[in-house]
Amino acid sequence: MSDFTVTRRNFIKTASASAFAGTLGFSITGLTAKSADKKLGIALVGLGNYSTRVLAPALQQTEHIKLTGIVTGTPAKIPEWQEQYGIKDKNIYNYETMHEAADNPDIDVFYIVLPNNMHKPYSIIAAEAGKHVFCEKPMALDEAECHDIIAACEKNNVRLSIGYRMQHEPITQQIIAFGREKTYGDILHVRAADGFFLGNTNHWKAHSELGGGAMMDMGVYAVNASRYVTGEEPIAVTAKIDHARPDEFTADEIMFFDLEFPSGIVSNCMTSLAHRVNELHVTARNGWYEMKPFMSYGGIRGETSDRKVLEESVPNQQAHQMEMDALSILNEKPMQVPGEEGMLDMRVVDAAFKSAKTGKRVEIKKNKV
Ligand code: NAD
Repeated sequence: MSDFTVTRRNFIKTASASAFAGTLGFSITGLTAKSADKKLGIALVGLGNYSTRVLAPALQQTEHIKLTGIVTGTPAKIPEWQEQYGIKDKNIYNYETMHEAADNPDIDVFYIVLPNNMHKPYSIIAAEAGKHVFCEKPMALDEAECHDIIAACEKNNVRLSIGYRMQHEPITQQIIAFGREKTYGDILHVRAADGFFLGNTNHWKAHSELGGGAMMDMGVYAVNASRYVTGEEPIAVTAKIDHARPDEFTADEIMFFDLEFPSGIVSNCMTSLAHRVNELHVTARNGWYEMKPFMSYGGIRGETSDRKVLEESVPNQQAHQMEMDALSILNEKPMQVPGEEGMLDMRVVDAAFKSAKTGKRVEIKKNKV
């Protein structure tokens, strides 16, 4: 470790208190539930890759939220989930019976981890059942759908959080604080790029039908990051779609998009399902700072022009995210990543697709809802 490396202890000391309130490890957050033994029960809706490999294991590490239920359309998956996680028969639902959980006190939260075209209907079913909603990104297919989800949650008096786990992550929060506190002066320029190689082009993520495509799957992180580092809402976008495998994708495989912000900042963004890329770079008047990668499950790393190295301090981002969200609910505090975050991103995404279609710069306005 070099002299310039910020150790975890120094990092905590040097980081702004506001940026870190409630974000580092469960025991030192300062946030605890009013009733220490209170745990929320959560049911995962959709048992695909993310639920199976990431969320269910992460829920074995949480203190205030526990995996109690599942919703699946594939009965063959049930025995393994029951064996592995001890899920009771009465807490297992399919997509047609999920609403019946309204009477089930074991389930406080439904986490929607389905293809993107199913986020709106199943978030609304969850809200109508009186359950809090965690909804994966992208929040829905467009801005109008996001408004419908928000309205359903408000009507049923339940909380809503979007699965942008990086907003709970301490290095990300330090990078956000650099902008807010102008540590390196006014931000002049942002560059955000994220993508991976999607080998299986038969997957729904390669196709528009279920809400796939690079922008919906990965580009929303670049949009979200551009918004959180600048603290501004973009006013215009110019976008272009490209393909490495045009015969295999019906959705966008690669998208380049430039966001213009009110203060004059431009964020050059790129997202791809054709190759691996993962970086967020901020140029400010007196220096620069970056995260590389900025949104992978592990290995998050930050660096600054004055040679600080920001090291990862959260061992499991998803456990941390769900723990923080559970504590917000239990302590009746605002959600850190509320529905508005997903909705504002989809406003940008809608405009980016419009721009890519017309080849013109598109001003970003509230869409008809
Ligand atoms: P996946 O394809 O592995 O899983 C989707 C699940 O939905 C499967 O269990 C499948 O059986 C079920 N399903 C129900 N109806 C379906 C239908 N008509 N067609 C296809 N599948 C259907 O996808 P995933 O990677 O788990 O992604 C699920 C959601 O989670 C997406 O919204 C994705 O953007 C999000 N996600 C978020 C992160 C993150 O880091 N926040 C990571 C991965 C995925």
